[in-house]
Amino acid sequence: MNSIKTALGRVSISPQHPLFYFGSRKIARDIIQKKRLHVSSPALDHTPGPLTQFTEDEIMMKETVAKLAREEIAPLVRKMEKEGKIDDGLLKKLFENGLMGLEIPTELNGAGSNFLTTILAVEEIAKVDGAVAALVDIHNTLVNSLIIKVGSEAQKAKYLPKLAQECVGSFCLTEPGSGSDAFSLKTEAKKDGSHYILNGTKMWISNSDIAGVFIVFANANPSAGYKGITTFFVDKEMPGVIVAKPEDKLGIKASGTCMVHLENVRVPEENILGVFGQGYKYAAGFLNEGRVGIGAQMIGMAQGALDATIPYTLERKQFGQDIFSFQSMQHQIAQVVTDLEAARLLVYNAARKVEAKQEFAKDAAMAKLVASETALRVTAKCIDFMGGVGFTTDFPQEKYFRDCKIGTIYEGTSNMQLSTIAKHIRKEYS
Ligand SMILES: Cc1cc2nc3c(=O)[nH]c(=O)nc-3n(C[C@H](O)[C@H](O)[C@H](O)COP(=O)(O)OP(=O)(O)OC[C@H]3O[C@@H](n4cnc5c(N)ncnc54)[C@H](O)[C@@H]3O)c2cc1C
Repeated sequence: MNSIKTALGRVSISPQHPLFYFGSRKIARDIIQKKRLHVSSPALDHTPGPLTQFTEDEIMMKETVAKLAREEIAPLVRKMEKEGKIDDGLLKKLFENGLMGLEIPTELNGAGSNFLTTILAVEEIAKVDGAVAALVDIHNTLVNSLIIKVGSEAQKAKYLPKLAQECVGSFCLTEPGSGSDAFSLKTEAKKDGSHYILNGTKMWISNSDIAGVFIVFANANPSAGYKGITTFFVDKEMPGVIVAKPEDKLGIKASGTCMVHLENVRVPEENILGVFGQGYKYAAGFLNEGRVGIGAQMIGMAQGALDATIPYTLERKQFGQDIFSFQSMQHQIAQVVTDLEAARLLVYNAARKVEAKQEFAKDAAMAKLVASETALRVTAKCIDFMGGVGFTTDFPQEKYFRDCKIGTIYEGTSNMQLSTIAKHIRKEYS
């Protein structure tokens, strides 16, 4: 019996192991030697655990958020859905509990957590309400994250404490004429002394009904094409910022999605976030992180739907027995629970790669693609498992199903995720 050192510890290799299958044992030993060289890299100074194993801090945040979601969000879900807005008192509680500044350093009034904690928080909230999860996710993974990573010290000091404590942020990239083809955006920023004058219309902007800060992508040098795209802080109070009424949507109705018009908005030069002309890089890069967050929102909603459905199948009786007892029901339930676990592992793995500062664009695209498509299937099945009552608004399954649909559209449609994955595959094999 041979053994090799792997990331999971020392593993015995018997002659029946696939490594011994092809040709002589010598070839197998060569493979083992190569593996040994590969896996004994000095960079591995610990033994990684399963993807579902968390640090104490991560567990604490997960449990705290789960409790908050059950006690503070759940009672408001239907009211917020009906009103099409996030409850003011709840928004205050999200700030008070550190959920709007998860990765903002503690010295800037944030929670100082890691990326996986954000993912777990979004997942826990989404189990109860996809709309609140969208608010928390976009604010943390797109707005805060971009400022933390590319903002100047002065910008961080000015914006991060208020984004952690009282002010919602919006990420304004999409326009009526540029969705998937985001870099063809038409909003312009014209230099005027020490200011820029912004003109254009942003569309589908999440959180914009309650936002105080807008991260706006505008082209400040159209002759350079997409390399003129520059990112600006725009404050709600600036003259010329007009937020239209929220769209009437299929799902995540409480998450305000509005058009934002910029009419001769005069923005000081120091409001450029990061480097002039690098906006396209930030949009592409940070949407990768955002996609892991959307993955978390999707697996959360799918789990929420299952948690509301499986107990019903154990209680509901037909043909003299609970409907869970029918083998065809068991197989379908087993299948969706397995599919959801696979999606969850893709999401957690992408999140861990973000933390490890490894290349993760392909993983993020895979996580979002699989999580959103899976969530749709799982929630649709949950309606089926409930029978007629699952089709009514008296039960939560129909809302989970409607809320999930956005996952295959925003932060890049499923087609665009497939294109990203394919681009990486081509590169890997070229
Ligand atoms: C509720 C909601 C919230 C949103 N929040 C925000 C936000 O906060 N900030 C923001 O900037 N944006 C936001 N968006 C915008 C969102 O990211 C875009 O809607 C999305 O990227 C798709 O763009 P589009 O709607 O213009 O669709 P289109 O780009 O017009 O796509 C229509 C169809 O064509 C397909 N398609 C397009 N190009 C290709 C291609 N090259 N290959 C194959 N298929 C293609 C798409 O997959 C899709 O099926 C939000 C959208 C919604 C609905």
